[in-house]
Amino acid sequence: MWSLPRHVLTYVLAVDILAVATTGAMVPVLPVTRADGVAAIILGICAIAHIELSRSIERARKLTSGVGPFVDSLTLWDFAAVIVLPPAVASGLIVFTHTIAWLRVWRGRRPLYRWVFSDATVLLATQAAALVLLIGPAPHPGVPAGLGGLAIILVAAIVRWFVNYALVVGAILISSPGMRAGQVIGEFGEQIIEAGALGLGLGAAGLLKFNPWLLAGIVIGLLALHRGVLLAQYRTSSRTDDKTGLHSADWWHQIAERTLDRARIDNVSLAVLMIDLDLFKKINDTYGHPAGDDVLRVVAHAIESEVRHDDAAGRWGGEEFIVLLPGVDGRELGAIAERIRRRIHVLVIPITTDHGPTSVTDLTVSIGGALWPSAGLSTVDDMVLAADSNLYAAKDEGRNRVKLPDGLDLRTADDHSEPHNRPAEQP
Ligand code: GH3
Ligand code: MG
Ligand code: MG
Repeated sequence: MWSLPRHVLTYVLAVDILAVATTGAMVPVLPVTRADGVAAIILGICAIAHIELSRSIERARKLTSGVGPFVDSLTLWDFAAVIVLPPAVASGLIVFTHTIAWLRVWRGRRPLYRWVFSDATVLLATQAAALVLLIGPAPHPGVPAGLGGLAIILVAAIVRWFVNYALVVGAILISSPGMRAGQVIGEFGEQIIEAGALGLGLGAAGLLKFNPWLLAGIVIGLLALHRGVLLAQYRTSSRTDDKTGLHSADWWHQIAERTLDRARIDNVSLAVLMIDLDLFKKINDTYGHPAGDDVLRVVAHAIESEVRHDDAAGRWGGEEFIVLLPGVDGRELGAIAERIRRRIHVLVIPITTDHGPTSVTDLTVSIGGALWPSAGLSTVDDMVLAADSNLYAAKDEGRNRVKLPDGLDLRTADDHSEPHNRPAEQP
């Protein structure tokens, strides 16, 4: 966080402090009863069930969403809490459920200060909505009756949405002034989800008073909504390479562009590794093309299993693979590339040829890397080109080796016999 430009840092800290101050000011406004505690526990249980059941969906959604404001589906429970609970309990519940979501879904995937900032925007939006409900004519907390009650809640929902959205858009504009308006505003589909979450939140608030068990229906509906959104995103592109199950080159490129946009905002690094099998033609010539295909599948699986769940691994071309690694520094990049190279080298791949079963061993790869940010790299294509030219340098130097950008700590094919647990050098 401290490496942010000064004006961005000021903005982030100002929002954080304002959130704490307004939340603190709202805490004593209404008394807290035992019934409030029970309602908070019920909403908390629903939110946790929702977080757990949608974990993998949320991660994938985040991976493929644009750089605009990301709609958090916890909005539903946050909004229900604002309606039925006094501000002190609603705020406490929001901090609690968002912390759980951070621990279960986002930890290690986003810098902590970004998470704190987005929670601060939610808290500010929550206090604004609570204020609308407080000064409205209907008694608060509780679900206000009649059409008039609905009108008040709609105003609160709009205020809540607007405050949150404006603060997030403000942060994006301040940290990347050159960004296109369309990118900042985010996808329309995302805002539909926000409206849906607010609407369901209203329904949840009503059910809580009527029969809390029925909230199970909301959780199920929400999960279905989630899946629907993801499928729609996936339909826009054929994203999987049929032969290996990795991302297709096209889809990988889309993921890479979005990840780079986010890396700019989050101020984290991004690396690319390009991996090409050495003398693969010989495998095809010796064992036949179908055996070659089997080898490709096993290699793809090996690459995938050597990187983290969120590192996008794709098939770039015939026997060429590509991996995107967010948040990795030069030193880690060298270690990961070496690990992949060694893992493929020790593979024993059973294949069937015209002469019966046998196995392919001693397979080697050459790997080229690129690391952003660095001079001369500003787009995904720049990174791919840089990784590709390092890959060809590795081939030129004799294959079966890793070549990273100049100046990065690199262990080459010759030094992998040294122990890896040597003490870390002091920076
Ligand atoms: P090097 O990369 O070390 O220079 O040598 P290479 O023999 O691997 O050369 P290159 O990368 O140019 O070779 C690509 C070969 O991969 C040619 C083609 O027969 C084979 N290949 C490409 N796509 C597939 C595929 O889907 N299945 C199979 N079995 N082979 C493929
Ligand atoms: Mg090759
Ligand atoms: Mg090749």
